[in-house]
Amino acid sequence: MAFSFVRLFIPDRCIVCGDVTVLNVPLCKDCLGDFCELFQNKCPVCQRTRHNCVCGGEFAKSGRFLFYYHTPVSKKVISVIKHNLDNNLADFIAELIYMSLKESKKFDCIVYPPRAKQSIKKYGFDQAGEIALSLGAKSGVKVIDAIKRKRKTAEQKLLSATQRRKNVMGMFESDKEKLSGKKRVLLIDDVYTTGATVKACEAALRKAGVKVVIPFTVAFTPVTRKAKPSRVIMSTAASGRYKVKRK
Ligand SMILES: [Zn+2]
Ligand SMILES: [Zn+2]
Repeated sequence: MAFSFVRLFIPDRCIVCGDVTVLNVPLCKDCLGDFCELFQNKCPVCQRTRHNCVCGGEFAKSGRFLFYYHTPVSKKVISVIKHNLDNNLADFIAELIYMSLKESKKFDCIVYPPRAKQSIKKYGFDQAGEIALSLGAKSGVKVIDAIKRKRKTAEQKLLSATQRRKNVMGMFESDKEKLSGKKRVLLIDDVYTTGATVKACEAALRKAGVKVVIPFTVAFTPVTRKAKPSRVIMSTAASGRYKVKRK
């Protein structure tokens, strides 16, 4: 199980503006209103509904994210998740994800891409792991730390899109033993930026025999240019090491 470093306290301040909040709600009334607007089913870039959004390939169309990483409020929420996550916010986000998993809540387990060791040291927690654990507690689905980082990699946020894809290529490996018998797996991450992390995790999970990987992220970054989200997968598939089933 992932180790929880998250601080134990109930915040009484809004994570966006610092105003007083109602107990257990991490946002004040005004910011909560702005936050709720993020859930409107339209892409802020192409103005289409999520399932027709052209700003991020298949993932955007799947709609498996809570909100677009686009407005100041959404960026602030993600910043807090990355740098100052506490149990209350992790629970709040996990609850929203749980409610969003409409079609099916049946998974054999929940997994997440582990945060780089140097980042855990810096911030004190693994944000995707913490959200996954909260979600696991709500859904009764076991959270397994089945994905490992293979080698030291640079912090993704410091890199360009192309560098990110290269950096993440072969970054993860999965634990076959822990994933034994797990066919349908929910993959939780904080932000879908280029899709490189999700794709690399999917490839690692499939290598361990997982048949269906359902990625769900807190936020999704829309892109205006035509995205190339499949590069990582295609290059590994082309090498013949494993095949990735595409819809
Ligand atoms: Zn506020
Ligand atoms: Zn769009």
